[in-house]
Amino acid sequence: MNGEVILQARDLVKHYPIKAGVIKRTVGHVRAVDGVSFDLHAGETLGVVGESGCGKSTLGRLLLRLEEPTSGSVTFDGADLYTASGSMLRRMRRDIQIVFQDPYTSLNPRKTVGDIIGEPFDIHPDVVPKGGRRRRVQELLDLVGLNPEHINRYPHQFSGGQRQRIGVARGIALNPKVLVCDEPVSALDVSVQAQVVNLLEKLQRELNLAYIFIAHDLAVVRHISDRVAVMYLGRVVELGDEAQIYDHPTHPYTQALLSAVPVPDPSLRGTRQQIMLTGDVPSPANPPSGCRFHTRCWLAQQMAGDSVPPQCREALPDLVERPDGLSAHASACHFATPLGAAAGTA
Ligand code: SF4
Repeated sequence: MNGEVILQARDLVKHYPIKAGVIKRTVGHVRAVDGVSFDLHAGETLGVVGESGCGKSTLGRLLLRLEEPTSGSVTFDGADLYTASGSMLRRMRRDIQIVFQDPYTSLNPRKTVGDIIGEPFDIHPDVVPKGGRRRRVQELLDLVGLNPEHINRYPHQFSGGQRQRIGVARGIALNPKVLVCDEPVSALDVSVQAQVVNLLEKLQRELNLAYIFIAHDLAVVRHISDRVAVMYLGRVVELGDEAQIYDHPTHPYTQALLSAVPVPDPSLRGTRQQIMLTGDVPSPANPPSGCRFHTRCWLAQQMAGDSVPPQCREALPDLVERPDGLSAHASACHFATPLGAAAGTA
């Protein structure tokens, strides 16, 4: 990537205690995020994909400090997010903003669009010149493709796609450097999804925004992302450039996820190996030992028949660079290998 690193997560962990009994004793922990590290560069999009419950939304909330981590760190522009206070924390909160998933429930129905988009100026009044708030909101409406004259309308007077544009306008109101987009298009019709994704791409070019784009739709993530992190049970299992992840995946979980994506070109349909994952995603309150994926891993089963190699059961694989056939990118598998190649050894 060309841009400098503006946000850095290191060994980020968020465990929620499970309480039971009359005295609410802690009997265990839900390991929502369990040791996540990555860099985000200025102006890039890092896609975060995975099934429901893999921890991607908790990760988004940690990056906004809407949750305090159990351990680990996030550095923004060289300063620690979790020890920041006072004016430093205010600046960070201004520079890292969010677009929520559901445009139907994330906008207050009793407030006008002008009030909703202008809300961040209540906390950060210094961002707009005195008396310039209305003009700035109208500029933002224009920037996201809405009519500035609709500033006094209410959310119910807009379509779903338009409401998400309002959410985006609110997200960029303070000129942030990072926008965490938490499933921003999954509540929208497919045709409208493309419009919102195109809008996000346009804004990124114009404002040099960096996105953390959280989604479960692999096609949408491929379209918008420069790099992609694949999560499974609270951990990143594969991380690389978009083309490395989609064209040369090396982690058996990523390979299985991608094999389920429909191929639009009929002539290529028979060429892709279909990989069926067996079993349910284990509970994050009781994750498997060793590699978290070993209870469902098709490669481990293929290598050792009905049992699983001891290495997979006992040793948690690190997310490290492993060859993908053309180059190398990070994968958390002892036997990471491009699809179709013989499984190597760790
Ligand atoms: Fe599968 Fe073993 Fe690799 Fe885990 S380490 S993904 S169980 S082959």
